Amino acid sequence: MSKSKTLTADLSDEFLSIAWSKLLHNAAGGAVCALAPGENGVIGKACTRPFVVALMQEIMVVGRAEGAYLCDDLPDAIIARHANERCDHWTCIAVDRRGGRLMELETRNAGSGAHRMPVWNSHAAERRDDRSAIGRRPRPRPIALAHVLCSSEIVIDPERPESPMKPVPHVLPAEALEEIVLDADIEDERAWVPRGDNVWSLPLLFNVSQGSWINLTRAKGEGVISRHRHPAAVTAFTLEGAWGYLEHEWTAKAGTFVFEPPGETHTLVVRPNPGHMLVLFHNFGPFIKVDEAGETVGYEDVFTRLEATRAHYDSAGLGADFVSRLVR
Ligand code: FE
Repeated sequence: MSKSKTLTADLSDEFLSIAWSKLLHNAAGGAVCALAPGENGVIGKACTRPFVVALMQEIMVVGRAEGAYLCDDLPDAIIARHANERCDHWTCIAVDRRGGRLMELETRNAGSGAHRMPVWNSHAAERRDDRSAIGRRPRPRPIALAHVLCSSEIVIDPERPESPMKPVPHVLPAEALEEIVLDADIEDERAWVPRGDNVWSLPLLFNVSQGSWINLTRAKGEGVISRHRHPAAVTAFTLEGAWGYLEHEWTAKAGTFVFEPPGETHTLVVRPNPGHMLVLFHNFGPFIKVDEAGETVGYEDVFTRLEATRAHYDSAGLGADFVSRLVR
């Protein structure tokens, strides 16, 4: 550190709580980034975040039992801080694993006295400026953390060979939003938000910065599913069944893509054969609910949809915060 820099220190009576907060930080930054291996921002990615939060919550239980005060949103705050760091900032343990060096745990448990191994890790090497002395092992294969289920279960394929194809080192600029990689479980009825008689919606994205949203719509039986006017465009891709609008002659079937221009008013119905539909809709903006005469009776936007989804997930036992992973 340059001699021109000045260090400041804050005194606190809450040392225990601060120490446990740091431990949460280390557990996420050290363990998960080393497993990936990846830079600090890895813990904020959609594929790892549920696991990181679960890990922190487990540590918080112990910390609270020890008397530390740890607020519920501490994991989110720590993850957000990591997400805002430079994308090339790696923890020391991740650097050691990436470089094939011994872990601190290995050197610490290697013995004592005459049999004790020197602490060859990134900290020691950088201080000694003696990288040639680092004890090296074969370079480890990356562990696939890319597939993390909503239940925080990590799916690791230890037999996956290291690919000769290399990813680019900097995927996202610092200002970019977090990606979403969602393995939607359409078989889990709790994920489907009731939208009326025999109509359900499975949300995939709430874009609160642009006022749009993407969801699967599932419906069955005859009758009007929804009647509304779209000030913004809509796209639809049909996965199953058959559907259409009373105002149009065409029928969308599996594989049919539809673009609905801004200004369109229509009445969505399921066609009687086969009597059900499963469609991926992308609403580029709010829509206005209308009656049979086309008169306005209400509206829906990304925020009303978000609120309804949050309420449903809460009542369904998934927790109101389950929807947060879909918000950008
Ligand atoms: Fe519509």
